[in-house]
Amino acid sequence: MKLHEYQAKQVFADAGLPVPDSELAASVDEVVEAADRVGYPVAIKAQVQVGGRGKAGGIELVDSEEEAREAADRILGMDLKGLHVDRVLVEAAVDFVNELYVGVTMDRNEGKPVAMVSTKGGVDIESVAEETPEAISRVHVDPSFGMHPFQARKAVYDAGVERDVAMDVASVLTTLYQLWDDKDSTDIEVNPVMITSDREVVCADAVMNIDDDALFRHADLREMEEEGDTAQDDLEAKADEYGFDYVRLSGNTGIIGNGAGLVMTTLDLVDYYGGEPANFLDIGGGAKASRVANALDMVFSDENVDSVVFNIFGGITRGDEVAKGINEALESFDEIPKPVVVRLAGTNAEEGMEILNTDLVTVEKTLEDAVQRAVEYADTEADK
Ligand code: GDP
Ligand code: MN
Repeated sequence: MKLHEYQAKQVFADAGLPVPDSELAASVDEVVEAADRVGYPVAIKAQVQVGGRGKAGGIELVDSEEEAREAADRILGMDLKGLHVDRVLVEAAVDFVNELYVGVTMDRNEGKPVAMVSTKGGVDIESVAEETPEAISRVHVDPSFGMHPFQARKAVYDAGVERDVAMDVASVLTTLYQLWDDKDSTDIEVNPVMITSDREVVCADAVMNIDDDALFRHADLREMEEEGDTAQDDLEAKADEYGFDYVRLSGNTGIIGNGAGLVMTTLDLVDYYGGEPANFLDIGGGAKASRVANALDMVFSDENVDSVVFNIFGGITRGDEVAKGINEALESFDEIPKPVVVRLAGTNAEEGMEILNTDLVTVEKTLEDAVQRAVEYADTEADK
């Protein structure tokens, strides 16, 4: 589970971390009311779960009611990297002189949590890690002891944070580690932590992800999850409803399979044959006709999709059952929006392939052929 910025900041504030005064708003009038209470200047920040909102035009600093109205009108309802913005955070603007990066995550190679600090904050930390890895200081923490204060100080000094604010930054880091541990977080990132002109330390952004398998012991976070659902990607919401594992990607070849490994393999092959996957969609085992129909409905609702490849391995799910599902689902369309390619293997695959209505789908015997065909179709459709 991924918290929204406003939710993570609530968690931060409860833990005593310094966050700017802020209020959530869902309409232009609410933005103005919130700004009156918070006090100008304010930052108006789109509450969608993607990075780089600033660059994408989802954050604006305003000085007056007139500017606030204009910015709110533009940001509310905008499409930010495929996500619909329906709420903004109205936050007291911070007068900053420096931006730091501070984060805690799991280092799987070391088998330990790692805390990171960098004075190159405010920008994309992945590119900092690639181009100037030495600009990020790291300390590993033994989870049975927690983060010792000296470790936090070391991380902060190693990063080159100025002395007069170092203790405050170190204290932010220890609290973040504590939260990471207490809340079963997989990663916490504050980018930027701002140093103000008054030499105060403020958490200006907040990213916090929670291990879904630990949510059962955090009633407060589960509530946040339900309440925060509104701005979710439409397709991802649909996937939740259908009980599918779905991830939207940026390409145009739609992919449906049963089993995560099978779907990943299909993704790799689409890439191998020069295509670009539009999604990861695992419909799970025991794929009945209705599940197949729902999966097609989902993939066709993604307007980027130019072709679809089904990769089904019949285990518990019998090939003939899946074939019937595919036929039924496709027969329900007046016109099939995009070409569909099917590869069936495993239990009753032969029967399945005979049942498939070849007026509606292209059937291929091998996975390689099916993927190549789907990529070809996607190319042709894209050129139309
Ligand atoms: P992100 O782009 O989604 O990571 O959103 P952030 O909250 O990190 O904001 C991006 C950038 O907007 C920051 O690095 C700042 O440069 C700027 N910004 C955000 N809030 C404020 C603010 O209150 N005051 C000022 N001056 N700049 C801000
Ligand atoms: Mn940020």
